[in-house]
Amino acid sequence: MSDSARPTISIVVPLYNERANVAPLLDRIGGVAERLRESYDFETVLVNDGSTDGTETAVRAEMTNRPAIVLVNLSRNFGHQLAATAGLDIAGGVAVVLMDGDLQDPPELIEAFLAKWRAGYDVVYAVRRARPGESRFKLFTARVFYRIIKRLTRIAIPVDAGDFRLMSRRVVEALRRSPERNRFLRGMVSWVGFNQTAIAYDRDVRHSGTTKYPLGKMVRFAMDGIASFSDIPLRFASYFGFAVSAVAFVYALVVIAFKLFSLKPPAYTPGWASTIVAVLFLGGVQLMSLGILGEYLGRVYDEVKGRPLYLISDIERS
Ligand code: UDP
Ligand code: MG
Repeated sequence: MSDSARPTISIVVPLYNERANVAPLLDRIGGVAERLRESYDFETVLVNDGSTDGTETAVRAEMTNRPAIVLVNLSRNFGHQLAATAGLDIAGGVAVVLMDGDLQDPPELIEAFLAKWRAGYDVVYAVRRARPGESRFKLFTARVFYRIIKRLTRIAIPVDAGDFRLMSRRVVEALRRSPERNRFLRGMVSWVGFNQTAIAYDRDVRHSGTTKYPLGKMVRFAMDGIASFSDIPLRFASYFGFAVSAVAFVYALVVIAFKLFSLKPPAYTPGWASTIVAVLFLGGVQLMSLGILGEYLGRVYDEVKGRPLYLISDIERS
């Protein structure tokens, strides 16, 4: 099928209940493939992440009249990052584009990605310039999140870039050799290194359906991002502990001195307020530190179990 002179480019799209987006998405990808057919072959890897709305049927219907579509059915819903991982594992192209299936990421940008890739870049990621149609809350939380992660991590994870990007074969192979399961792909891609560059784009509104990232999943994802790339929260407890202990030590010296020399403390009060404040405050800090420990411990437990990242029920090619 593929002419050896033309490199194959894989387009990986995780799909979770995107029934109504499948046909328009493949139309637009088809348009790009048509325009670039002289230079590249394309394969589109659609990962059905345990959809329950007939996404699989929609994909199969499209496969009857379109070539080079790979349908990967996962055994259940594994979540966006793992579905994308499955797609990257299956993709056979010399470069792989990862994109969302709701047409928020315009496939037409792939042409610009490929130009940069040709120029020698290993990773070309798309940075969101405008994000119409997203709630103020999502925009705000996303903004805060990207800034927090920038401060907490030592590797440069680009601000306002999602997973929409092109990766060269060696970057994909590097990801495939990273077995971690709390996958924060955009961070892992930054970690890999090589030559990376950005392209700014205006994010479109979701073509059909609703977001598959409700608040709970967003928070989880943010925690995964921070926990997989930073141990600063873990240290926070010890830094804070040192600071509080230092203050407590000085205070203890003062109290002992008053006792030893039978002095009366200045402005003597029954001490109820200060005691309760100290107890509540320290109780809060301790619980929070335990919680942070728990976040990391839970992830360690997850990793140690060593289960497969995802399970494929079947793969079909058109
Ligand atoms: N997705 C997935 N599994 C999930 C959740 C989402 O494969 O459990 C896919 C979804 O179908 C879409 C992409 O991940 O192609 C991004 O999801 P979404 O558009 O809902 O996220 P948002 O753009 O709202 O952040
Ligand atoms: Mg979306």
